[in-house]
Amino acid sequence: MARWLLKFIVLVALGAGFFHIAFRDAPDDFDVTAGRNELLAATMPSHAGQPQIRVLVADALDIATLALDGMVRMEGVIHPNMTRRAGEFAQSVAVDIAPAPNGNGVNIGADRYVRARIRPLGASPIKLSWRSGNQDVNLSLPYEIEIYAIHVRSGDTLTPKIRILARLPLEEYLYGVVASEVPTSWPLEALRSQAVASRTYAYFEIRSRRNEEYDVHAGTRSQVWRPATFVEPPVRRAVDSTQGIVITEKNALIKTFFHSECGGFTADARWVFTKTPILALSGVRCPRCANQANRPTSWSVAYSRQEIAARLGKAGLFKQGGEIRNLQALDQDGNPMGRRLGRAVTIEITLAGGSGTTIRIPANEFRLAMGADRNNLASTYMTIEGGSEARIAFSGLGWGHGVGLCQHGAAFAADRLGYSFMDILALYYPGSKLVRLWGAGQ
Ligand SMILES: [Zn+2]
Repeated sequence: MARWLLKFIVLVALGAGFFHIAFRDAPDDFDVTAGRNELLAATMPSHAGQPQIRVLVADALDIATLALDGMVRMEGVIHPNMTRRAGEFAQSVAVDIAPAPNGNGVNIGADRYVRARIRPLGASPIKLSWRSGNQDVNLSLPYEIEIYAIHVRSGDTLTPKIRILARLPLEEYLYGVVASEVPTSWPLEALRSQAVASRTYAYFEIRSRRNEEYDVHAGTRSQVWRPATFVEPPVRRAVDSTQGIVITEKNALIKTFFHSECGGFTADARWVFTKTPILALSGVRCPRCANQANRPTSWSVAYSRQEIAARLGKAGLFKQGGEIRNLQALDQDGNPMGRRLGRAVTIEITLAGGSGTTIRIPANEFRLAMGADRNNLASTYMTIEGGSEARIAFSGLGWGHGVGLCQHGAAFAADRLGYSFMDILALYYPGSKLVRLWGAGQ
């Protein structure tokens, strides 16, 4: 079936003429664990129209299935003769995608490409499916996708895998973010504040990752995005009515971090992500979470010392090894927090043995290493109890890293305080200014 498909593409391509597209090869030693971006202020661009965003949909896969139904446009570089081909054709087909054994290209059905781009032209989206752990992942993408091979390093070994990106207009991408990040039943002003924060975050990444292969991850490493084949009316309204609006400080874009629940006070970005001071990310009191009557999420968990050492070791945060004797949280000034509930900035670990050596780990890295979910360390707004008992108990309020907009706080401010999205953004990004870079709002 795929041979037939190739012949069809060739025929159409010959008829339509070749398109000149600049393709880049995947670097041989690409590392899938990219470093954290330290840049927090990108220069303001001059912009004509909304940009496209490149979303990493799937990475380091061994195999996936691609299903097409209806008219599509396909462009690709054929391996090994590097001929560029492009064409539009109607097809109903399901084929496997897998890296070529040596990593020189990707096999799509029986054909081998260096890179391929496919865009649906009709109403039927591109369907992709693969297995992730014990789960089947199925995606319907009404957007252009790009497929190519990468090499994943493990020790001295390079293993060929496949990567799939989606390319779409930023405003369309936001439909899939707002619907995934917050309940669509939330007040419109809260949805609008999420749309503006997410637009700014995404555009910041587009601006600062121009030399990278993609702009954002589809999951929590960036912001959660699920392709939207249907856009709920409140989501469409929140995005469209704030079209092109971004958050700035000193005439520069800021990386607008946000999180689920702050627990009381939002965190200064300098405690979590970078040393660069950004006024808009310096932390504020949250009108919702700071009031116990509003019942911010509370969590508690206890671990043995061995378990803590093992989890830190797995995350590469306990290279020196040893036996943990005591563990305490330090605040932003480096002072022990005792049993006070608040924002832990550093976790200080004292090792057993005569020397009493201490090591310090940023609290958010400690949280991620222990498991940053509701069954583990949901937030760094916490207190540590029983630091000298057999098990060390942690308890806290909220969920997430705590920097920037508090999503539950935004819903509260819209619903209970009558705040507009502009009021909400002024609350959680103090001193910031809103600027419209494209569009007019509808
Ligand atoms: Zn909050």
